[in-house]
Amino acid sequence: MEMATLQDLFVENLKDLYSAETQILKAGPKVSKAVENEDLRSALDEHLRITETQVERLERIFKDLGEKPTGKKCHGMEGLLEENKELLGEDAEQEVLEAGVIVGMQKVEHYEIAGYGSAVTFAKLLGNDDAADLLAQTLEEEKNADKMLTQIAEQINVQADHPA
Ligand code: FE
Ligand code: ZN
Ligand code: FE
Repeated sequence: MEMATLQDLFVENLKDLYSAETQILKAGPKVSKAVENEDLRSALDEHLRITETQVERLERIFKDLGEKPTGKKCHGMEGLLEENKELLGEDAEQEVLEAGVIVGMQKVEHYEIAGYGSAVTFAKLLGNDDAADLLAQTLEEEKNADKMLTQIAEQINVQADHPA
């Protein structure tokens, strides 16, 4: 891989995000299925639908750049999703499991916020206003997902602390 310029790093970072998003699309439904709390499940499902749009935005940016989104695996997201999978395999109380799902999914959102935050900055520096615009939309959605999870955690954490 060539990494001579900020443009190269920009493209690598976008490939990482593309891999991250597609891994989330694959792993997400299993996480959502393990959740019984309706607020949490619908928030996860809603964010999965949004994730499809995020993938399309990345594809559009790559097309404009004349580059392909494939060819890099996001090992960070692979590890985060592996930890979520491990959690789902635990013999846990449901409320405690769901509190854990929120921890895991917030880690996913924070990874994305870091990646997209840098991507927006790079796009602006490189004068790629269209990409900056699209990436900023996704960044906003990731921040909203994180906030939503924090809100739902306020209820689920209490339930996990005082099981029914
Ligand atoms: Fe995303
Ligand atoms: Zn990565
Ligand atoms: Fe996300």
